[in-house]
Amino acid sequence: MEEVSGIYMHCSFNGCQFPRITTVDARVEVRTSMPTGGFSKLHNSKVKWRRNGDAVFHRTCWDMVVKTCRMRNKKRAPFVLSAIEKTLVREALKTAEFHDSLETVGNEASRIADLIKNAKHCVAFTARGFLHLLV
Ligand SMILES: [Zn+2]
Repeated sequence: MEEVSGIYMHCSFNGCQFPRITTVDARVEVRTSMPTGGFSKLHNSKVKWRRNGDAVFHRTCWDMVVKTCRMRNKKRAPFVLSAIEKTLVREALKTAEFHDSLETVGNEASRIADLIKNAKHCVAFTARGFLHLLV
């Protein structure tokens, strides 16, 4: 996936009410497949897909798009997603990379630090392998 550069990113949700996304905000990066005819053929699209299918959202905006995509009762939906766009969102869901906000990362780091400090023995399974600390 293409690295999103810069400190500020535009949210890909067309109904976004928040300021631009910064690197300290909780965000979701996704990629979907190109629909037949390309993204420019989509009308009243709720998502501003980039040409390569990438999109980046505030966590809140992404959650709303996904929730709307899954709603069966259209009357309760905050906005309407076309059938094509629902397919794109479902495809994008498979690739979603969730980035926690800096605040969340900080809180989790101190929580884990407390766990380690108060542990007699510590075994950690990480994505990179196996870390074993004897305290
Ligand atoms: Zn947004």
